[in-house]
Amino acid sequence: MATKTAGRKMLLGGEWVDREDRIPVYDPENGEQIDSVPAAAKEDMEYAIQVAEEGAAIAESLTVRERMDILNKAAAYIDERREEFAETIAKEGSKTINEARGEAKRAAETLRLGAEEARRLTGESINFDQMPGNENRMGYYYHFPVGVIAAITPFNDPLNLVAHKVSPGIAAGNAMIVKPATETPLSALKLAEALVHAGLPKKVLTVITGRGRDIGDTLVESSKVNMISFTGGLETGEAIAKKAGLKKLSMELGSNSPAIVMADTDLKKAADSLTSGAFAASGQNCLGVQRIFIESSVYDEFKKHMTKAVSSVKLGRKLSEDTDMGPLINEKEAKRVQEWVEEALDAGGNILAGGKREGALYHPTLLENVPEDATIVKEEVFGPVVMIFPVDSLDEAITRSNQVNYGLQAGIFTKNIDAAMKAARRLHVGGVMINDSSDFRIDAMPFGGVKGSGLGREGVAFAIEEMSEKRIICFKLEDF
Ligand code: NAP
Repeated sequence: MATKTAGRKMLLGGEWVDREDRIPVYDPENGEQIDSVPAAAKEDMEYAIQVAEEGAAIAESLTVRERMDILNKAAAYIDERREEFAETIAKEGSKTINEARGEAKRAAETLRLGAEEARRLTGESINFDQMPGNENRMGYYYHFPVGVIAAITPFNDPLNLVAHKVSPGIAAGNAMIVKPATETPLSALKLAEALVHAGLPKKVLTVITGRGRDIGDTLVESSKVNMISFTGGLETGEAIAKKAGLKKLSMELGSNSPAIVMADTDLKKAADSLTSGAFAASGQNCLGVQRIFIESSVYDEFKKHMTKAVSSVKLGRKLSEDTDMGPLINEKEAKRVQEWVEEALDAGGNILAGGKREGALYHPTLLENVPEDATIVKEEVFGPVVMIFPVDSLDEAITRSNQVNYGLQAGIFTKNIDAAMKAARRLHVGGVMINDSSDFRIDAMPFGGVKGSGLGREGVAFAIEEMSEKRIICFKLEDF
């Protein structure tokens, strides 16, 4: 059954438009086509940019109250139709219905956060008279929008990651051009539907559907686009950064997150938490746990708990509430994961659970003895595979955690406050979770990485900072 959505059209400069050339949208579970969206051409993107310039003037002049009302109304629209949004997420992507419901709930919250943070778009006064000769000057700074923002988003959280750009973008008074992932455009179009319903003026938002390789350069290279807010893979992010020229960049990229398990922790609880952290969204989660370093004295015991937990992840239909994990986004990706696992096995690794592929489904997989130079250790697997490694000390765990070109988040399980604080200080990442898996996140916290994991921070208040500029106003007074 086709997902009912205005998504059969794209929102171009405030109008829902269609194109003869269309891109099919498939359910990865069975390969069935569930819908299709217009394949935008370069000329459509040029038009979107031209209209967004006008949209930027409209967005800037919206009062804070108007921005708040629009975001709150759009959040309520999603809440009222949460099941419809959740089904769209689950059908076009990899998530189970339980995961998709969670994402729909969070997306509404992300919009409400934007409404609340809009209130805090303030500045502060500057005491110019701290420098001699400026006794008659007074002034302040305030935030103003950057103008036109390109928001390029990935397939794995097709609704909330779009909300994470649109909500702060609108709160800060910008016009947005959203280019969602071609695999999962329907959720982004439904979010546009919510914002249009909420009264967002025309021209402030475009959600343009089309392949990045066809329309991406026109967007990224345009001198009329003032900022690119990108979430996706490192390779795509680097290519975009090279082409972008002089404009603001926010880059939320991938990772192969580490977790450390110390001997003093509850090993079963740690194994359960790390299993959930490794296989959410079939492991297609930028924060997903990929490498677990365990103190060698408890390695065998932890391995037993972890093997049991991974083996009990329930596979099944995405729309069934009993299912823990569904397929990858497509069969090509599942084959890539299979190849990386085979390479690891050829290099001396062994399988403790999983290691099987059926179409786009790759079974939850636990590996050990994988050498450090295997692709699956160095790169982001972005699939349902997690590896365990024994270590002799916390220092070794930290050094090996840091030995990759990624650094988004990490986790450490310990009751020892010194160990926790040492890890927090020395792990080279954007966030350290103590007694939790690396994939913990709330939408209000600063979120982003270091090294190949990105530039800048999302989390609505922090994205607003990135999506606005500080303008200084200085009065030179005659008689003060
Ligand atoms: P991707 O292949 O890098 O694609 C991301 C987006 O970039 C898509 O909309 C894609 O469009 C677009 N794109 C591709 N080529 C482009 C070009 N030349 N110009 C402009 N846009 C272009 O990533 P993905 O496979 O969808 O997502 C997985 C990656 O995202 C993983 O690495 C994951 O870790 C990362 N991620 C990071 C975060 C974070 O917050 N740090 C969150 C989620 C995901 P098409 O779909 O049309 O190719």
